[in-house]
Amino acid sequence: MTYIQRVRRALKKRGFEVGAEEFNGGVRLTGELDSWDDVVECGRLAVDKKRSRGVVNDITLRGYSPEPVRRPDTRDDSLDGYAPDVLVIGGGIVGTAIARELTRYKLKAALVEKEYDVATAQSSRNDGMIHAGIDLKPNCRKVKYNTRGNKLYDVLSRELDVPIERTGQLVFYTARWQKLVYPLIKLRASKNDIPIYPVSREKAKEYVREPGFNYGGFMCPSAGAVSPYLMSVALAENAVKNGLDLFVDTMVTGMEVKEGKIVSVATNRGTIYPKVVINAAGVFSDKIAEMARDRHFTIHPRRGVEAVLDKKSYPKSKTVLGRFSISGSSGKGHTKGGGVIVTIDHNLLLGPSARECPERENEATTREELDEVVEKQTALAPEIKRSDIITYFAGTRAATYEEDFIVEVSPVTKNFIQAAGIQSPGVTAAPAIAEDVALWAAKMISGGEAIPNENFDPTRKGIPVVREMTPAEREELIRSDPDFGEVVCRCEQITKGEILAAVRSPLKVDSVDAVKRRVRAGMGRCQGGFCQPLVVDIIAKELGISPEEVTKKGAGSAVAPYSEKGRRV
Ligand SMILES: Cc1cc2nc3c(=O)[nH]c(=O)nc-3n(C[C@H](O)[C@H](O)[C@H](O)COP(=O)(O)OP(=O)(O)OC[C@H]3O[C@@H](n4cnc5c(N)ncnc54)[C@H](O)[C@@H]3O)c2cc1C
Repeated sequence: MTYIQRVRRALKKRGFEVGAEEFNGGVRLTGELDSWDDVVECGRLAVDKKRSRGVVNDITLRGYSPEPVRRPDTRDDSLDGYAPDVLVIGGGIVGTAIARELTRYKLKAALVEKEYDVATAQSSRNDGMIHAGIDLKPNCRKVKYNTRGNKLYDVLSRELDVPIERTGQLVFYTARWQKLVYPLIKLRASKNDIPIYPVSREKAKEYVREPGFNYGGFMCPSAGAVSPYLMSVALAENAVKNGLDLFVDTMVTGMEVKEGKIVSVATNRGTIYPKVVINAAGVFSDKIAEMARDRHFTIHPRRGVEAVLDKKSYPKSKTVLGRFSISGSSGKGHTKGGGVIVTIDHNLLLGPSARECPERENEATTREELDEVVEKQTALAPEIKRSDIITYFAGTRAATYEEDFIVEVSPVTKNFIQAAGIQSPGVTAAPAIAEDVALWAAKMISGGEAIPNENFDPTRKGIPVVREMTPAEREELIRSDPDFGEVVCRCEQITKGEILAAVRSPLKVDSVDAVKRRVRAGMGRCQGGFCQPLVVDIIAKELGISPEEVTKKGAGSAVAPYSEKGRRV
């Protein structure tokens, strides 16, 4: 039986009356169904990693019209005729990591991002966990890039002045039989080059100060925490320092492909003529692949909701807690199961959930999903109360039906490279994906060996974090610049000097959320209730614009009008 015959049979057997045709080395499904879960189920039934390049699922949901994609307001021709060697599409952690790696080579690199800043999509809406990778199946791209990426974080942290913490992850047993499987888990971990060791119930109590916590399990010491948005910003800043041209508010809208080669890329700011194009467009990576005429996968967005707890909850657990799951991220629901997660800023996170949804940019959090997360994860640590939650958010994973990353030189379109379908653990894997992708692009440009950029400087200096300084260090800094003595965000102890340093950064920073991602102003208990008007005022004064022109998060997100002193009028 051929692959297509097998797919048709499987779909029919489940009662789905939809079409299945051969398409670009895989299969394309067509038709219309009444439930989104059924649409996704059809895609899953069509997966055959050995015989198919991928599943393109064009089955539509009856009565559903997709929401329009968020687009930048800017319309000009400032990039018309611009011809970089390599163009990266997407400024998430994957795109910015690739861009930085590209600047290691002698070539002209550019990055376009449709939003007002880097890291606004998946890359700022996740757990910030540097995964050990214990739940990943051997021999997939996820595990290959996760293991290498995890190790690269120590170097990146040093070079880019972005803190990481090896918090470890305690995977605990909730049933007796689970302990018996440990030798198999250990074997898989060794195969994937992941250190683990058993932890008794008594020892586990040293990590988790919850009276009700009475589980043994195993520890993955290489798991850690990072701020995914700060790391993306740092990667982008360092790339710009090394010659990257970075354009925000710039959206790719089409491509001209002739004789299997991308000739030009259309944007809202004119037509660009790159020699090589890299797809790092997250939940829209299948749309970019379609423009480049190499669509062989479909993103089915999977939303995850997270609850952020007040920092006072941190002493309850200083390591990430996750339930043992035999199926890991390849099991039912396709999530690692979530847990109680320690962030780099010592808030705890509860989550994430996993829900298939047709919308790619829906960041709304529903009560139902939040309840689901809280109920599931507080069962691990009953002392955590709802009143400990200071905020919540949702992020959308860029899942393919194969549930693996696509990191490849296109076999169809000659000058096209894909870093697509990068769902979890994409933060962890990004530095390793970037190494491969940039090297392939550099070789394409030189036509042989990649030529190093002798002037590449891997270092970047971060913004001083006043609240973490010793009194002597703080005094010295304030003496050199009194703005570092003026606290603006009381909850997080962020000073005017830090906010100004963010606004003066090498990237465009003219919104409240862009400042927040860089220095945490507004991320504390009051969620900006007190400091937001002051932050608006500082941005406005520094940029010489009126407070009304300062947005929360780019075009169409005006902050309420403020007076000169930053108070509401
Ligand atoms: C709830 C949740 C929790 C997670 N937790 C973890 C974790 O703890 N650890 C971990 O390792 N991973 C985690 N992940 C996965 C991780 O967040 C992603 O894999 C990673 O951020 C993907 O980065 P990216 O750059 O590929 O995509 P994105 O960050 O989505 O960036 C893609 C960018 O492309 C831009 N773009 C799209 N179309 C266009 C266009 N036409 N023109 C220009 N720009 C365009 C978008 O605006 C976007 O900024 C989690 C994900 C979610 C949703």
